[in-house]
Formats: sequence, structure tokens, C-alpha cells
Amino acid sequence: MDFKMTEEQELLLESLKELVEREWNEEAYNDCYYRDHTYPLDFISKLSEAGFTMLGVPEEYGGTPVDYLTLVMFAKELARLTGASLPTSSNAISIDDILSFGNEEQKKFILEYVTEHGTSPFALGFSEPQAGSDSSAITTTATRKDGKVYINGHKTMVSDADTSPYLLTITRDLEAEKPMKAMSMWLVPMDAPGVKLEPLHKIGLKTSGFHEIYLENVEIEESALIGIEGEGFMQLMKNFEIERLMLVAIGVGMAEAAFEEVARYANFREQFGKPIGQFQIIQEKITDMAIKIANMKSHIFECAWKKDNDISIMVESALAKRYCSQASFEVLDEAMQILGGIGYTEESRISRMWVDVRHLRIAGGTDEIMVHIAGRQLLKQYR
Ligand SMILES: Cc1cc2nc3c(=O)[nH]c(=O)nc-3n(C[C@H](O)[C@H](O)[C@H](O)COP(=O)(O)OP(=O)(O)OC[C@H]3O[C@@H](n4cnc5c(N)ncnc54)[C@H](O)[C@@H]3O)c2cc1C
Repeated sequence: MDFKMTEEQELLLESLKELVEREWNEEAYNDCYYRDHTYPLDFISKLSEAGFTMLGVPEEYGGTPVDYLTLVMFAKELARLTGASLPTSSNAISIDDILSFGNEEQKKFILEYVTEHGTSPFALGFSEPQAGSDSSAITTTATRKDGKVYINGHKTMVSDADTSPYLLTITRDLEAEKPMKAMSMWLVPMDAPGVKLEPLHKIGLKTSGFHEIYLENVEIEESALIGIEGEGFMQLMKNFEIERLMLVAIGVGMAEAAFEEVARYANFREQFGKPIGQFQIIQEKITDMAIKIANMKSHIFECAWKKDNDISIMVESALAKRYCSQASFEVLDEAMQILGGIGYTEESRISRMWVDVRHLRIAGGTDEIMVHIAGRQLLKQYR
């Protein structure tokens, strides 16, 4: 087993570190987070100029191809260096649905947008009020009349809906017997008549919007279909496993950022005449945090390596998603404990990461759904 990074990976992460040291501004990010509720666009454009936002996108589309392991390392490291959840680390995965299934016009538009803005041009509208974990309960429909397509339905909890020009969404043929084989994927312009947004107010991840979306007789062209009609769900599933890894990689990076911060703090914060790091109970916290971080890193890196080597990660990615979502939050929670009261304020970035990391136990498939995916498969191996 070789745990050594390749020269390319070392160079990539080194240049990312240099860029963050030069361009990251914690105060400006706090303003984006707590006051303006926007992404740090200046920083994202620096990432974009340096080519990081096209990482993993095939060369023929103007990107820099890298393997999944490198993408996961990059997402983790960006979160470790900034302590922030940025939308750029998984562009390659987000736009892959379009690169894999879209037509030439759709691909061209998507790539031009990512190249210019550093982020994907579409929000993902899958969840519906009655269809969260159970995607088969989706009731948004696409019907045809006089050569046009009309979308009707209600999507919920859509991240970035207010800043994305398009919605990548799923509809279902309600008459079909097998719901999963009756779903289709569409790219709906957000400014089309009949699209209405209503805000939801997240407790964390404050740099991005969160919305209900009402779709009422939204007229789109036939050319807005992505891929094959009826196969939308299968298309969506293509990258789900690696998307989950990318998502928790951000949590692992934040856990590392928190660990590094509080380990330093424990060395200088004095109570009862000595640094709190000299109390064994604080050392125990530091030790357990380090164990969790080591486990999380091994888990996500091994998973990504398997994916790169065409080994199925159906079970492993669910295990990693569940473990890392919980463990990264536990690390953040202990970090807050070590900081004491100041950790519970907006003046400390630990509180920001604490609330951000918590969403991982819900978004991208809940902890419980990860058991649903992995549990039966694990038992099956021993029948
Ligand atoms: C920060 C954030 C960002 C999000 N962004 C998006 C987005 O951009 N686009 C989008 O479409 N969605 C998004 N979502 C929605 C997310 O995908 C859903 O919240 C998630 O799939 C769970 O669905 P639900 O909230 O309806 O919970 P439900 O499915 O109603 O679940 C409620 C509870 O029941 C449990 N449960 C459900 N089924 C089972 C089962 N079979 N066995 C055991 N327990 C079960 C769940 O684990 C959970 O604990 C986002 C959510 C969050 C928190």
C-alpha cells in the first residue's frame, strides 16, 4: 500500500496553499457569511484564474483532468485551509451530468459559464416536500403541447437557486409503473415565466441561498431535456457515490482546520496556572479528535482510490458518508468545547464550521439512508 502523494498532487496542493495564504481573507469571508449571504466571489475568481475550478474536467472541454483521489484531496485541503464550504471544489462532478448526457449546445453553455464564473450555472432541484429520501415519490411532471414542454411541480430545499441561471431538475411520468424508470432530467431557465422562488432560512452555510421553487406551467423547449427521457434518475445516480465523498471531504477538511486551531489554543490558553493542554482530559479530546481525523482521511482516500481503480464503492461510499458526517461533527463539537465560551460566538470560526458541518448528516442522503444502502449489502455478503 502506497500512501505517498504523487509529485503532481504535492505540487497541486502546494500551489493551492500558496494561493490561499495570498488571497484568503477571513474577515471578508465572515462578511459574506454573516452579513451579505454571498459566496466570496473575489476568492472564487482567483481560484478560477489559477485553473482550480476546472479541475477534473476533461481536457477536451478546457479542464485539467485529474483522478478522483486528487479531486477528493483537493476538496478536503481547500476546506482545511479556509475553514469554508465553497462550491468550486466539485465543479467537475456537478457538471458531469451535462458533459455525459447533454447535447453540444448545453455542454458549450455550461463550460463557458464555469470558465467565466468558476461555479456551475445550475442549482439542483430534486427534493420535493413529499419526496426527500424517497425519490420515487417525486410528482413534478413534464407534459407536451403544441411542440412545447410544460413543467409543473414544487421543489424544495434548493441550494443556490437565487444565484443560478438554471435549475437542473427531475420530472416523473406519474402513469408509469416503475417510478425510477419514468424520470427525466431537464434544464429549466430560472427566469422562465411560472418559476417562483420562496426563501427558506438555513441555520448554517450562510453564503448560499436556500429556496422552495414553484413551477407552474413553465414552458421550455424540447431541447432542454438532458439525456434520455425516462432515464433521468439513472443519470442522476451516475455520480452520486463520488458526490457523497466530495461532500464529506469538505467536512473532513473543516475537522482538520478545527483540530489545528484548538491544538494551538490548548498550548497557550492558561487556566489554574497552566496551559489547558496539560490537563489530561483536554489531551484525551485532542487524541480522540486526531483518531477520528485519521480514520476519516483513510476512509475517503481509500474510497476514491477504489473508484479510480474501477472497484465498486456502492457500500464503501455510504459507510464513508455516514461515518465522516458524524465524526466531522463530533470533532467540531469537541473543538468548540476546548475553546470554551468564545467558541460559541460568531467571533470564532469554530462556531461557523460547527453549524456548517452538521448539514452533512442530512444533505446528500441522510445518515439513516446510508444504513439503508449499506446495511443490506453488508449482510448479503455473509449469507
Ligand atoms: C443544507 C442542505 C442543502 C440541500 N440542498 C439541496 C439541493 O440543492 N437540492 C435538493 O434537491 N435537495 C437539497 N437538500 C435536501 C436534502 O437532499 C434532503 O433534506 C434529504 O434528502 C432528506 O430529505 P428530507 O429532508 O425530506 O427528510 P426525510 O426524507 O423526510 O427524512 C426525515 C427523517 O426520516 C429518516 N428516514 C427517511 N426514510 C428512512 C428510511 N427508509 N429508513 C430510516 N430512516 C428514514 C431520515 O433519515 C430523516 O432522519 C438539501 C438539504 C440540506 C440540509
